[in-house]
Amino acid sequence: MNAKEYVENVIENVKAKNPAEPEFHQAVTEVLRTLVPVLDKEPKYMKNKILERIVEPERTILFRVTWEDDNGEIHVNKGFRVNFNSAIGPYKGGLRFHPTVTLGTLKFLGFEQIFKNALTGIPMGGAKGGSDFDPHGKSDAEVRRFCENFMMELYRHIGPNTDVPAGDIGVGAREIGYLFGAYKKIVDRWEGVLTGKGLNWGGSLIRPEATGYGATYYLMEMLKKFKGKRDLKGYNVAISGSGNVAQFAAKKVTEYGGKVVTLSDSKGAMHLPDGINNEIWNAVYETKAIRHGRLQEVAEKFDLPWFPSKKAWEVAAKEAGEVHIAFPSATQNEIDGNDAKLLLDSGLIAVVEGANMPSTLDAINKYFENDILFGPAKAANAGGVAVSGLEMSQNAQFTYWTAEEVDRKLQGIMRNIFSIGLKYAEKYDKPTNLLLGSNIGGFVKVADSMIDQGIY
Ligand code: NDP
Repeated sequence: MNAKEYVENVIENVKAKNPAEPEFHQAVTEVLRTLVPVLDKEPKYMKNKILERIVEPERTILFRVTWEDDNGEIHVNKGFRVNFNSAIGPYKGGLRFHPTVTLGTLKFLGFEQIFKNALTGIPMGGAKGGSDFDPHGKSDAEVRRFCENFMMELYRHIGPNTDVPAGDIGVGAREIGYLFGAYKKIVDRWEGVLTGKGLNWGGSLIRPEATGYGATYYLMEMLKKFKGKRDLKGYNVAISGSGNVAQFAAKKVTEYGGKVVTLSDSKGAMHLPDGINNEIWNAVYETKAIRHGRLQEVAEKFDLPWFPSKKAWEVAAKEAGEVHIAFPSATQNEIDGNDAKLLLDSGLIAVVEGANMPSTLDAINKYFENDILFGPAKAANAGGVAVSGLEMSQNAQFTYWTAEEVDRKLQGIMRNIFSIGLKYAEKYDKPTNLLLGSNIGGFVKVADSMIDQGIY
């Protein structure tokens, strides 16, 4: 069997053995197809059945979470933690609380996390977890009771050298606080078991900013290398989402001189005809991160055009006219083939993925057919987990680093992630294909570690 047949065979088996998990199938297909050149060249990966092993989580924990709302009514949610791969370090990856969460969602995210974490250069394995609990519209007390119940099971599976969860969609500073408080009470130990903690109790400066800032640093590396550009002046940047990643992406893009033309949430999209200023940014932060409200409230406050149920891409293309850079920062599969076409017709030159797997395979094919610079999620948004890794180091040493120090380290890590992707893209004769380069760069590190550690 040649490498291409081997890969297709593994993909078919994944689909057959994991039915009804389309996002997981999509992530596996995207990664494995780009690995063909390295599998061709290095027979050891096929001989050691690395693909068959790497697509199977080392273990998966499924549990019931029962909690009481403010009226005393009892609710039941599903809890998950997927420990995907620990070849290069303790399991590490976020927790997502969103009604659409299924085991398949978390397997796609955990699978991607293996390679992303490997690219950071910090010893961290891949994991993901969460629940189908929806924090929207819940009181702080309800969220706290849910988090306490979630941790009553999760605590026995995590630890600073075993598995270190973090935030993701629906899990921000408030949820990490309640989860950490519950963990500490149950185990009677203060230890760095979660990242994204508050600054007063073990959190790292720049962790909230890290994913949005890091993805912008990655974008700047792409533009410098392939367009000779060192700023974003003259570029319209369409950002989707208005949560953690989108907020700090908007801030950094603006600092580099780009014009942020959209933000969005699950209810619609907002056009920013003059870009985003400090006043609007503060209102977005206060509305989404502190009050857990709706972006439409910000649009109304500043009299900005609001488009219910519309995606950022459509609003950006129609209202801003030209869209040079797409910066998806909300959720998976938010740019499909039609959205990609709309963006291409509006002057697109680059896509940088702040969210995980925001582009469908169809959209990615369109980027490559049209020579669009493409910063894939597992490289571009790795700044968040990288600073989580730095938070773990600070906790282990009982120390704090300054914001400047962490930001400098983050910039170095993002430059290095870009170089790894470029190195492998060039090695395999696809010099602009950072998707292939990053997938291969992450894969060889994990695969070689698995071979070193024997058969398990
Ligand atoms: P937040 O919960 O802070 O924000 C998510 C944003 O996306 C909100 O504006 C939300 O709208 C919107 N959104 C979520 N789901 C949907 C949906 N199904 N349709 C439309 N809009 C949606 O999450 P983050 O900013 O932390 O995460 C955003 C993305 O970035 C995710 O893909 C995450 O996996 C990825 N990521 C996050 C990292 C981090 O450090 N936080 C690290 C690496 C990747 P609403 O408020 O209406 O729900």
